[in-house]
Parts: sequence; structure tokens; C-alpha cells
Amino acid sequence: MYIFSDLKMYGRFTWGLRSYLRHTLTLEEAKAIIQKRMAEREENFLRLVRKGIFGYPKSPYLPLLRLARCEMGDIEKMVRGKGLEGTLRALREAGVYVTFEEFKGREPILRQGESISVKHNDFNNPFLSHYYKAETGGTTQAGTRVEIDLEHLEAETPRLMVSQDAHDLLDIPTAIWFGILPDPTGIIANLTRVPFRNVPQKWFSPITNRDLRPSIKNQLATRYIIFIGRLLGVPISWPESVSLENAIVVARWVADILKTHNKCLIITHVSKALRLCIAAQEEGLDLTGLVLWGGGEPPTFAKVQEMQKTGAHWIPSYYWTEVGLVGQGCAKPADINDLHFFKDRLALIQSSRKVPGSEITVNAFYFTTLLLTAPKLMLNVESDDYGVIEHRSCGCTLESYGFTDHLRHIQSYQKLTGEGVTLVGSEMVYILENVLPARFGGSPIDYQLLEEEDEQGFTRLSLLVSPRIKIKDKMEVINAVLEALKHSSVSAELAGAIWKQAKTFQVKQMEPILTVRGKLMPLHLAKRFPHST
Ligand SMILES: [Zn+2]
Repeated sequence: MYIFSDLKMYGRFTWGLRSYLRHTLTLEEAKAIIQKRMAEREENFLRLVRKGIFGYPKSPYLPLLRLARCEMGDIEKMVRGKGLEGTLRALREAGVYVTFEEFKGREPILRQGESISVKHNDFNNPFLSHYYKAETGGTTQAGTRVEIDLEHLEAETPRLMVSQDAHDLLDIPTAIWFGILPDPTGIIANLTRVPFRNVPQKWFSPITNRDLRPSIKNQLATRYIIFIGRLLGVPISWPESVSLENAIVVARWVADILKTHNKCLIITHVSKALRLCIAAQEEGLDLTGLVLWGGGEPPTFAKVQEMQKTGAHWIPSYYWTEVGLVGQGCAKPADINDLHFFKDRLALIQSSRKVPGSEITVNAFYFTTLLLTAPKLMLNVESDDYGVIEHRSCGCTLESYGFTDHLRHIQSYQKLTGEGVTLVGSEMVYILENVLPARFGGSPIDYQLLEEEDEQGFTRLSLLVSPRIKIKDKMEVINAVLEALKHSSVSAELAGAIWKQAKTFQVKQMEPILTVRGKLMPLHLAKRFPHST
């Protein structure tokens, strides 16, 4: 059964891949597409609701709209009267929204005394057909889907092209330092640059066979995509393993390129960019002319300052795998993480909500997708991020498309991020409260994960274990956590593999820290909420 559905998927993906790789996009076309989308935001939203929600009986949003007594006609009327964002705010007030945990299928949706059970896959866009996916089983939750949707990637490219143009980064030597499948970031960073023929010359992969051996299916898929690309004249490069401790390999490549070019672009995660710069400093390499473009975790002042010492220039990006590029650094920024929000195919509102398991309130982000090419259809879905939305005139090119909303001070409120990988806090909580006490004794109050930043700016996760628990070998505890992550989900496995390489984890024998209100939270995120712990 699975084999047949796999073959069908491969067939459709292959067919789509060939035409995707042949497709080209000019800057003028990219600009025109964005302008059209900006002019048609409201109609696009209404089409998505009509077809993707009211026209799709299995839509998880239908019961929410029914509870809010809201029909298609009501939404049309609201959009005409209140505008798109006004409508979304009214729907949020009426209970039409999905929390991050509900969206991940980890909790049922509870509204007005009714419980609606949902799975993560219920939010999938049923209208996409040219995708590659690999299901990975987990023990603590349903399988996680690794996905590459070609229709979605095609819709992504205009925005990416104008972003690179705004920073004068088209047609310059480019490399990426991203993983291979099951981590889709490397393939996506390559494919999204194909239509404007800016395919990275070099693909460094931080995942080595020592950390994680991808399944045969994922290995074949990576090779297949590169092979077909090259057959059609698109020079996608073969990934070259460069572990985090070998960042100097990437730094030397940059220094070499800068001998003959005055500019060079590296696209990677924040902390890998930092590693590259520290390695360059140690070897005395000047990286003036290097542009580092990245996201995956908040670029703190300490991290960016360290990067700038090499002469490199930093541009932040805000990416959410299931949505694509949400925002990109302003060319005339107010600070190190000042981004333009891409409202051509997304809408964003804010609403205050409590951080789970705490008394802290944050102004959380709620996203709505506007195009039927989105991998997940979203109507007021929480991203687990919060921050500031500013309406400001900066005078850079991105503003000229109507991208006048700036996002600043973005932080996740419950995910653990570090080294560009994210782990949903609840997966770690399960390990702290169940796996470790069962293995080493004690109870959930004897274990806590503390998030800190070291003097160089790297995120460190300290596992605090009460001195009452006798630990003979701290490595045994770290290995138990990594082993449990491996069985949790594909993203947890990736996080574990990278964190092991980066030595992100350490064990400290000390009592877990209480909050100012005397509570013990399994995750102590002091770095993010400095005034509330
Ligand atoms: Zn700007």
C-alpha cells in the first residue's frame, strides 16, 4: 500500500520537478507578481476561505467557524467593512484561531466547551500535488512529515528574488551551509534560487554520517534532485560534509572567493555564521565583502558583533518551514534584527496569550496564508513567536513593494532554538518529566533545562539535576537525552544530532531554579524572559 502511494508521489514529484527546473523568472516578472498579489490580498484571502475551508469538508477550521456562527457571506461582509486584518482580529476574538500545540496536533482544540480532535496533517493543503514527503515515525507523537512542495517553492521565488535584489545580492558567488534530507533546508535553499539562476556554487552540509545516517529514501531523493537538475543544465552542487567544528573550511572558501570578487554570500543559520567568523578570526582571515544571510534563531547582539569583527555584513531572515520566508532584513535597518514582513501572501495579527506553564503574557503572532499554494492552510495560526510589529518608513527598496510593516525583537516563547535547529519545548518536557526520572531516579522536580548564552554568544542548554540524584557519569545523562530525542520526532532527532556536535548540552548537578513566584518550570528560559524568572 505504502509502496504504491510512494510510487505515485515520486511520479508526480518527478514530473513537477522537471518543469520546475526549466522555469525561469526575471526581476521584472518577480516585481509584477508581488505587486499583483499585494493588490489582490483580500480577494486571495476570500478565495482561500471559499475553496480551502468552506469547499473542503474535512477542514479543521469548519467546526471553529460553526461555533462562531460565521458563514462565508459573513466573512465577505467583514472583509469589505473591516479590511483583511480587521476581519482576522474579529475572528480571533470569536475563537477562530489555532494555537501552536493544536496546530502540531499535540492538543485537541477546546472552544466553548467543545473538544475538536486534530492532527497536524489535517492542516495540509489538499490542492497540492507535486510534492516530496517522507513520513518519520516517533514514539511520543504521530509521524512528522518532511515535505518539499514545488508549487509552494515556485510561489516563494519572486519574494526571494526581490529580497536579494534589495541588498544587491543577485549574481554574486553564493554558498549554503545547510543540512541534507530529512532536513529540507538545503534542498529548498537550492531549488528556490533555480528560477532566477542564482543556484549556490557550493553546498556545505553540517550533517555528517557520524551524526545521522539519512534513510535510503532520503539519500536517494537528495541525489535524484541534484542529478535531474544537472541533467537539465541546472548546476546544483553535491553536498560536502563540513561539521560545525570544521567551520574554517567554509571560511577559507569565502576568503578564496574574495580574492577575485568583491562580494560573496553565505546563507546559513545564525550560529553557523558565528562559527564561521570565529574560525576566520583565529586564522587571521579578513572577510570584508562577505554577506551572511540567516535565521533559525534570534541573532543576539553578542552574536552579530562577533560576526562583524571579521568585516562581514549581517542580514537577518525570518523563515518558517511550513510557511516559507516570512520576513527579510531591511536594507536600512533600525537594529540587528529589523525585518520587512512579506504581506503579499501572508497576513499577521497579534493577540496576547499566556506562555504555557507560566504567568508570563506575550503578544503572540497569528498567521494566515493567502495563497492556495501554501503547504499548510492557515487561518489565525500561532507560530509560537512573539515580537513587535511596527509600521515605519525606512526608505529601502523593500518598502516600495508595500512591505511597510517591520518585525522586530522576535522570540519564540516555548521552542528551544540553538544552532539553527528547533525543538518543541513539550518534547523536552516529556523527557525531563518521564524519561530521566525513570532511568536515573527522582521525580520531575529534580530535572530542569536551563537556557543560557556563553561569552561568545552560543546558546548553551544546561540540564540541571538535583544533587539528591546520584549521577556517576554525566555523559550517560546526555546520551539518555539524545537517545530519547532520536525516538521523539524527526526535528528532535536533527536537533539532538546537531547539539551533540556543537556540545550544546551540559549536565550540572544543582537544584532546579524557581521562578520569582516560587514555581518550578521544567524549561527555565531566563534568556528570553529576564524579568520574570
Ligand atoms: Zn527597509
